This record gives sequence, C-alpha cells and structure tokens, in this order.
Amino acid sequence: MVLDGGSQPPRLVVVTGGSRGIGLAVTRRLAEDGYRIVVGCRHEEETSKVLAGVRDGNGTAAAIRLDVADQRSIDEFFSAVQDRFGPIHALVNNAGITGPLGRFVEADLSWVRRVAEVNMLGTMGCAKAALLHFAATPGSGRSIVNISSVAAQTGSPGEYVHYAATKAAIEAFTIGLAREVAKEGIRINAVAPGTIATGIHAMAGDPDRPQRVAQRVPMGRVGRPEEIANAVAWLISPASSYVTGAVLRVTGGL
Ligand code: NDP
Repeated sequence: MVLDGGSQPPRLVVVTGGSRGIGLAVTRRLAEDGYRIVVGCRHEEETSKVLAGVRDGNGTAAAIRLDVADQRSIDEFFSAVQDRFGPIHALVNNAGITGPLGRFVEADLSWVRRVAEVNMLGTMGCAKAALLHFAATPGSGRSIVNISSVAAQTGSPGEYVHYAATKAAIEAFTIGLAREVAKEGIRINAVAPGTIATGIHAMAGDPDRPQRVAQRVPMGRVGRPEEIANAVAWLISPASSYVTGAVLRVTGGL
C-alpha cells in the first residue's frame, strides 16, 4: 500500500514492546503496509536482530532502547526517534506485563506497582510524549492505538485483578483523551485482545492458559498475534478516519 504520494517518505509508526508477541506481529503487519517502523524495546541489540528480517517502507525496521516504566527513558526515546527518523505518524502503546498469577490478597504489592508502572503509566507517558511530538511537527492523520485486554471487562478474578485494573484504566484514558484531542485531528483508540498465543502466559507462570481458555471462547480457539495486528493496522489507517475513542474487542466472542 502506498501511504504517501510524491517524494514524501513513508509514514513513521512507533511500536512499544515490539520485540516479540503482539508487538512484533504489529510491526510486521505495518511494515507490510509500507510504513516505516521504530520499535521501542528494552534490549536494543537483541531486538535489532529480531527485526533484521522485517523490511519496512524504508527497507528495514529500527530498534531504539525504551523502558516504558521510566519517564526519562520515554523522553529520550521520543527525542532519538525524532532526531533520527523525523515526524511520527502514529504510536502503538503495546508494551505490557502481567506478573505472577493469583488471588489479589496474596499479591506482592511491588508487582502490583510494577504492573501499573509498565501498563498504565507507561501507556500514559508514551501518549503524552507522542502528543507533544505531534504538536511540534506538522502532519495529518495522527493517531495512537493503546493495547487493552478483555480483562478490562472480566476483571480476571483469581488471576490478576490488578492487571485488569490497569487495562480498564487504559480504556478510560483512551475514551477521555480521544475527546480531549479530537479537534486537533488526532485519533485515540484501543484494541482489547482476548487470549492470544504469545509468551506472556509462560512469563506469568501459566503456559497452558491459551489451551485452557480456548474451550471457553465462543469461536473455539485463542487468537493469533496477527489477528490483533490486523485490527491495529485498520485503526491507524485512513480507513478508520471517523473512529476515535473506540475500544475494538478482538476476542473470538469471549
Ligand atoms: P509479550 O510478553 O509477548 O510481549 C510483551 C512486550 O512488552 C515485549 O516486547 C516486552 O519487551 C515489552 N515490555 C515489557 N515491559 C517493558 C518495558 N518496561 N519497557 C518496554 N517494553 C516492555 O506479550 P504480548 O505480546 O502477549 O502482549 C502485548 C500486549 O498485549 C500487552 O500490553 C498485553 O497486556 C496485551 N494483551 C495480551 C494478551 C495475550 O493473551 N497475549 C491478551 C490481552 C492483552 P522485553 O522483550 O524487553 O521483555
């Protein structure tokens, strides 16, 4: 797909946490659509190797160091992206963690804080940096897509209610911010995935979760990262030009 006419370079999209899982699928999909991609990641060298096979609208997707739990890292990241690649067209706020599973009363509060810092404050910090960047550089059709979760609606009792709460916060943030910046021509949307087969479940100590959940999903299976990437690609594209403040649930009916 040709996204810019004439001699304009292809539009630039920042994807946080694009080293694996859903973020990597989003990166691949947007690269196929002809965007240039910068992945914000904690391990720049490793992620650069992962991205070596991804050819974006500029020939290769780039990785720059970013820890979304650290506001200074966020500010440095956005400055580096602007200096090296120019104006950003869109941000995909994807980086996220769950932490160990269990009942909230038994949760380690340092993990609760960590999950809030990465998922909620990380999403908000990157959104703010992107909005400041949008204001400082000319461009149209700008947007932000935040990755929520089906957990925002189910609350995930007995598993990770604090994670669910961060995702519910992301949805409220998406709706409010969308209305706040709509007149500036900036669209803010969210995608709420159901259970998707990625490494996040093994990291939470529950590698069999996708298999278990599949039985409860009306479509009878868990989702693929590419199916979330398709939704993100649509929300960034001009095809969704009148969509803002939306939470697109991609859950197989869960
Ligand atoms: P993965 O664990 O596969 O990937 C998570 C990504 O986030 C990694 O790239 C990781 O980078 C990055 N990340 C974590 N912490 C930070 C940080 N502090 N700074 C920068 N990057 C960070 O998970 P998924 O792909 O499954 O999840 C992606 C998003 O989708 C998350 O927001 C998650 O909550 C959401 N989601 C996932 C669902 C699922 O079933 N898989 C369901 C619903 C929502 P690193 O390599 O450095 O660890």
